[in-house]
Amino acid sequence: MLNPAAAARRALPSLDRLLSSAAVTALIAEYGRSRVTEILRHALDAERERLALPDTAWDEPQFLHSCTTSLKQGSEPSLKPVFNLTGTVLHTNLGRAVMPKKAAEAVMAAMTRPVNLEFELSTGGRGERDSHVERWLKQLTGGEKAVAVNNNAAAVYLALNTLALKREVLVSRGELIEIGGAFRIPDIMARAGVKLVEVGTTNRTHLKDFAEAITPRTAAIMKVHTSNYVVQGFTATVLEPDLAKLAHEHKLPFIVDLGSGTLIDLEQYGLPHEPTPRETLAHGADVVTFSGDKLLGGPQAGLLVGRRDLMVRIAKNPMKRALRLDKLTLTALDAVLRLYLHPERLHEELPALQLLTRKAEDIAAQAKRVLPQVAAALGDTWRVEITACKSQIGSGALPVDVMPSSGLAMTPAAKKKTDVGLLATAFRALPVPVIGHIKDGAFVLDLRCLDHEDEFISQLPQLRLK
Ligand SMILES: *Cc1c(COP(=O)(O)O)cnc(C)c1O
Repeated sequence: MLNPAAAARRALPSLDRLLSSAAVTALIAEYGRSRVTEILRHALDAERERLALPDTAWDEPQFLHSCTTSLKQGSEPSLKPVFNLTGTVLHTNLGRAVMPKKAAEAVMAAMTRPVNLEFELSTGGRGERDSHVERWLKQLTGGEKAVAVNNNAAAVYLALNTLALKREVLVSRGELIEIGGAFRIPDIMARAGVKLVEVGTTNRTHLKDFAEAITPRTAAIMKVHTSNYVVQGFTATVLEPDLAKLAHEHKLPFIVDLGSGTLIDLEQYGLPHEPTPRETLAHGADVVTFSGDKLLGGPQAGLLVGRRDLMVRIAKNPMKRALRLDKLTLTALDAVLRLYLHPERLHEELPALQLLTRKAEDIAAQAKRVLPQVAAALGDTWRVEITACKSQIGSGALPVDVMPSSGLAMTPAAKKKTDVGLLATAFRALPVPVIGHIKDGAFVLDLRCLDHEDEFISQLPQLRLK
C-alpha cells in the first residue's frame, strides 16, 4: 500500500496530459503556449511539494483556477490610469498634465500611420522635426528660434553644454535648486561640462556680486526660477533686465531656466502670476528653457526659445540627437500649442487649466454627490465627512499658493480599531487605483481632479476592507 502522500502525488497529472486538456487549450489560445507551459510546470512543482504534506488532495479545477489567475496577473500592465485625488494637480509621480482629447486623437493617428516627421511636403526634401512645433513656439513666446527636447532638464543641459562647455556660468547662490527626481542645477552643470560659479548668498544676491564674478573664463549668466520654494524675509535678487544688461555689456548670453513656464498670463484666471517665456525674453534673456508638461499642460518635453544665433548652435549640438523628441510627443505638443492660438477658448480645451481653475462650488457639489456612495461602500467602520482642502498646482509651480477645494475625509468610526493606512492601501488596490493622502489621522480624497465620476463610484463595491 502506498502511503497517503505518495498516493496523492500519483494523482498529479503529467504536464503533457494537462497541456492537451480542453481547459488548458483555451488558456494557450489566450496567453501563448510557452507562457502557459512555464506557469503549469512551476505550479506542478509547487503542487508536488504541497501534496507531500498531510491532509492534502489534488484538486484540478482549483489548480487551473490559480494558474489562470497567475497568467492574468502576469500579463496586466503595471503602468495604468489612476485617480489623482492627492490635491496636487500637476503631480510628477502621477504623470503631470492630463492632456486634451484633441492631442490624444492626433497621437493615435501618428501612432498608427506614417507621418511627415522629417519630410518637407512642399519640396519632397528632408524636413526638420522641430519645425512642427517651432512655428507655434515662436509665435507664442516671441523667440526667434525654438528647439524641443525630452524634458526641461535636457533643455538646461543642452543650453549649458552648447554655450558654456569647459567655461564658467554664474548663478545666484539662492537659486541652486533641487527639484524632485534628482534634478539639481549644480549636478546638471557639472555633467554639462560647465563650471558653476556661485554668486551672492542664499538670501541676498546683488548686481555687483555678479559684476565682480565675471572673468575671461565666464561663458554665461544664468537665472533659475526657484520653482519649489521661496526665500522670504531679508532677501534680494537681481532683476532680469539688470542681469541681462550686465551680461550683454560683457558680450555674455543670459540664460533663464523658467521651470514651469506658462504661455499665458494666469492672473486672468484668478491664479497667481507665473513668469512667461515672452516676458522673460522681453526682459533681455537670450535663451529661455521650460517644461512641456507643467503649467503648459502638454506632454513631457523641454522647450528652448531665444536668440537665433545661440539657438542655431544649440540645435546643432550633437547631443540634441540623443535628447530629441519622438513623433508622438511632437504630435501631442503641436496639438496643445495650437490650443493657445485661441486663448479665449483655452480653459475649455486644456484639462490642466480646467482643473486649476475649477470652481470651489463645483467641487463642493461633487463632494456632496459622492459622499453617500463612499460612505455606503465603507460601512459603519468608517466615518466619512466633507472636508475643506487646499489643492496645489504641483511640479514646483507657485509653491506657496493654494487653491480652495473640497474633499472627503475618512476616519475610523468611534471605538473601531482600524488603520487609515490600510484604507489608503485598499483604495490603491482598486482596478483604477485611487490615490489620496493622509492628513491629521484621516484619509483624504481631494476631489478637484475627480473626472470619470461614474467609474469612481462603480468600482467602490470592490474595495477590500479588512
Ligand atoms: C521642473 C523644473 C526643471 C526640470 O524640468 P523637467 O521637465 O521635469 O525635466 C528644471 N528647472 C526648473 C526651474 C524646474 O522647475
